Amino acid sequence: MSIPCPRCQQALTPGAPSCAHCGASLLIEVDGAEPACAIHPTLRSLGTCDRCGAFACAMCLRVDSRGQVLCQNCHEREPDVLLPWDRREELGTFMAFWKTFVEVLLRPGSFSTVRAEGSVGSSLLFALLSSLPSSFVTGVTYLGLFSFMTQVFPVASTQPEVEQRFQWVGLATFAFCVLVIPPLTLVFTLLNAGVDHLFLRMGGITRDFAVTLRANALSQAPMVLGGVPIIGAQVAPFWVLVARVFAYRGLHRTTWGVAAVGALAAPLTFCMLCGGGYIALILLAVGRS
Ligand SMILES: [Zn+2]
Ligand SMILES: [Zn+2]
Ligand SMILES: [Zn+2]
Repeated sequence: MSIPCPRCQQALTPGAPSCAHCGASLLIEVDGAEPACAIHPTLRSLGTCDRCGAFACAMCLRVDSRGQVLCQNCHEREPDVLLPWDRREELGTFMAFWKTFVEVLLRPGSFSTVRAEGSVGSSLLFALLSSLPSSFVTGVTYLGLFSFMTQVFPVASTQPEVEQRFQWVGLATFAFCVLVIPPLTLVFTLLNAGVDHLFLRMGGITRDFAVTLRANALSQAPMVLGGVPIIGAQVAPFWVLVARVFAYRGLHRTTWGVAAVGALAAPLTFCMLCGGGYIALILLAVGRS
């Protein structure tokens, strides 16, 4: 959203006293019925604050990181904290990821002051990095399992071609986990965020899909714990869902209720469909016998 210059109609720079395009002074004296600035009663208002509705002159107008037009007061109050992930150039990608991971796990409440916008690319990169440790550990586990089986079963040692086959299956599973699962994670992230966004929209949120995608990706940080053998895989998905409720609430600045529906409606529906499918299969099997 932009505010036009009253003379040349080009977008003016909020806060600047004159137009950058035509040079006209934007500090115009009020004459007659025109609305005046709430702070400067002698100056003409050029726009209203999207937050509080106050009339604002050129000096008092601001635009925030989301492109909202705000008055100076509301702009100062607007929390717009950068996550470590947003400071990748300064911290380095690995450090930025690690610090954001800790933040999401231990202080999910800070989502409510964090900048809502982030590029689609940066969100997807975060989701990708979150998935790598668990895919790697899963791959290594299968690789180990298949080599172990060739040691345990005596038939393998007497038939070298069987042993070799086991090793190939192990390697193929490892390659699948490391090369195929991460890209699939990205596709799933986009689909999941898309469905969640529809539910959030029904709850009345106004911010873009990129905000939902960012919240969805950042809340995948606990999946790193999926790389911790045995306990990780059980705990991580639930931790993700809890973090996601915080993330949707914080980045969309919405209520707990709307955020919870956005985060949980899709997975619950999915579980119910799967559960329903299993029950139908069981009934079918019972009916046949
Ligand atoms: Zn102008
Ligand atoms: Zn305001
Ligand atoms: Zn003013």
